[in-house]
Amino acid sequence: IKGQYGKHFAVYDENLRNQLLREQAITDSMEAALAEEQFLVYLQPKYTAEGGCLAGAEALVRWNHPQWGFLSPAEFIPLFEKNGFITKLDQFVWERSCAILKRWIDQGYPQVPVSVNVSRADIYQADLCDILVGFIEKYQLSPSLLHLEITESAYTENQEQIIDTVNNLRQRGFIIEMDDFGTGYSSLNMLNEMPLDVLKLDMKFIRNETAKPADEGVLRFIMGLARWMDLKVVAEGVETKEQLERLNELGCDYVQGYYLAKPMPAIEFENLLKSGQ
Ligand code: C2E
Ligand code: CA
Ligand code: CA
Ligand code: CA
Repeated sequence: IKGQYGKHFAVYDENLRNQLLREQAITDSMEAALAEEQFLVYLQPKYTAEGGCLAGAEALVRWNHPQWGFLSPAEFIPLFEKNGFITKLDQFVWERSCAILKRWIDQGYPQVPVSVNVSRADIYQADLCDILVGFIEKYQLSPSLLHLEITESAYTENQEQIIDTVNNLRQRGFIIEMDDFGTGYSSLNMLNEMPLDVLKLDMKFIRNETAKPADEGVLRFIMGLARWMDLKVVAEGVETKEQLERLNELGCDYVQGYYLAKPMPAIEFENLLKSGQ
């Protein structure tokens, strides 16, 4: 028995050790990766649920590592949120997104907004608003073209500070989207106080494996609430025709997901813009 325990611990140690080594390797290479432009901004199209018109994009970062290939954000984003590098990386993604928007204007392409992710760590940066306004001015954009996605769970800590910051951003003309909405953190009371333009429904409501029968009622309730609060609703993670039809029937405004289009390089997205798809 003793020997078996020893073995289990050995396996556990080995896994933990490998994970720590991997994290260390990522941490050691992140600064150079940013300088060497290994981080890429991909765009995932967003469409109107009703007519299927191209209505925007979400900017999603990708790491193309020379040895490891494409790394999943699920692996490096949580680590960067822990070690603080996320603020640097996000600023890179915001600036690239502004440069992309400017390029569309210069090329005479149709104008659609780009939504960028704002990590909870970014919100505590005292100069967040100045940084974003700085990019908007540098690339001569209307702030309404840059949508800011803030995850629902970020709103629970230091609520007053968050409300303050988000109010500020909104007054400057940025559009605020609450990401991962419905993951169980916000109360109705909080939602009422929150400066907000768009609700982005969490994927769990849409995916067949995780959607519960009760979710149908919850979804209808959220749609009614959104209409009453004058918020737009985006559904992400749409993977099938059936899901799309159901969301449309429920009155969802915008849809995003693999059924419609996967995240793609900005160049590919431009082809969609040009052809109006
Ligand atoms: P998120 O903000 O909720 O982004 C949506 C994720 O769902 C993306 O994963 C997207 O590729 C994926 N997705 C889109 N359509 C579908 C679908 O139909 N089915 C499924 N199963 N997934 C779909 P991705 O790009 O791997 O990003 C994962 C998370 O990493 C994001 O979740 C976001 O929290 C974070 N992230 C990604 N890029 C950035 C960034 O530039 N900054 C920050 N702070 N976080 C980022
Ligand atoms: Ca997002
Ligand atoms: Ca989300
Ligand atoms: Ca998320």
